[in-house]
Amino acid sequence: MGEFDLIRRYFQRPVRRAVLGVGDDCALLAPAAGMQLAISSDMLVEGRHFFPDVNPRLLGHKALAVNLSDLAASGAKPLAFTLALSLPRADEAWISEFAAGLLELADTHECELIGGDTTGGPLNICITVFGEVPAGQALLRSGAKPGDEIWVSGQLGDARLALEALLGHIELPAALLAQARQRLEAPTPRVALGLALRGIASSALDVSDGLLGDLDHILELSHVGATVDSRITTPLIAASAYAAQTSWQFDLKLQQQCTLAGGDDYELCFTAPAARHADVLAAGAASATPVTCIGRIDAEPGLRVVGADGAYMQTHWKSFDHFGAA
Ligand code: ADP
Ligand code: MG
Repeated sequence: MGEFDLIRRYFQRPVRRAVLGVGDDCALLAPAAGMQLAISSDMLVEGRHFFPDVNPRLLGHKALAVNLSDLAASGAKPLAFTLALSLPRADEAWISEFAAGLLELADTHECELIGGDTTGGPLNICITVFGEVPAGQALLRSGAKPGDEIWVSGQLGDARLALEALLGHIELPAALLAQARQRLEAPTPRVALGLALRGIASSALDVSDGLLGDLDHILELSHVGATVDSRITTPLIAASAYAAQTSWQFDLKLQQQCTLAGGDDYELCFTAPAARHADVLAAGAASATPVTCIGRIDAEPGLRVVGADGAYMQTHWKSFDHFGAA
């Protein structure tokens, strides 16, 4: 099957919101009056971001999910995306599964595939998403103020726990690995929460590299410091519920590493004035997304983490890259 047949068969779909979709030199999008376009790209590379034998349907889902997660963190509503694909061969069974996973999530969020590029080469997937947000209302990393509360959505650390097991660094019971692997391979972008946080959150980002490292980006751009309570973040990993129900022992240090520095969570970390506490809870309820207050923004620079004993912990687990050195 040639490149053009492949595109027509798997990636060309009826145009809905876009002015022009797949098939011409450029796609055309018309932003609505008073809206700004929010644009983000994320690339997934075989061997670096996913295992060569990963389920293609899940890979299609994840490739779009990580991009939608960026729109969520900006409080933007998904509109459309482009897909640049480098494929080692035209394996139709693989491509149709990949497209199914990708387009199912796209339909859930009414995000149209409007164009892209297809070439032979090592497996590599680059998606650019376009979203819209009322002018001036995008959630930025730079708005956190001393006294603001720090929040995270959902659960943290399970994706990293699964990765550690798949890399052979740790052993997990099969049922637990299956549960954690779901989080690694099929993350849920928190789009509805991002939209509900417009006008409430003072800053936001999505947790892709690990909570502490990502929070640090907010601190840097907002010129503030923070205190995070690990006694609140540590139990957020779903594996801790598994440990509570079974005889499986969850090492505290591993639990802390995964939740504080795990990566691949695609949850939102955001700040909001303490006076908006009830509004944040309402935004979480309205979007059916759990939200947990995990600390506060300080005027004093630096990131302080309260340990299990109530004293500040020493941690070098700023992000994924540092995890191995901890
Ligand atoms: P060009 O030669 O102008 O780069 P192409 O021949 O690469 O155009 O692509 C033809 C059309 O198919 C374009 O509209 C392009 O956006 C679209 N397209 C190519 N690859 C993909 C893909 N993987 N997903 C969606 N659309 C694609
Ligand atoms: Mg091209």
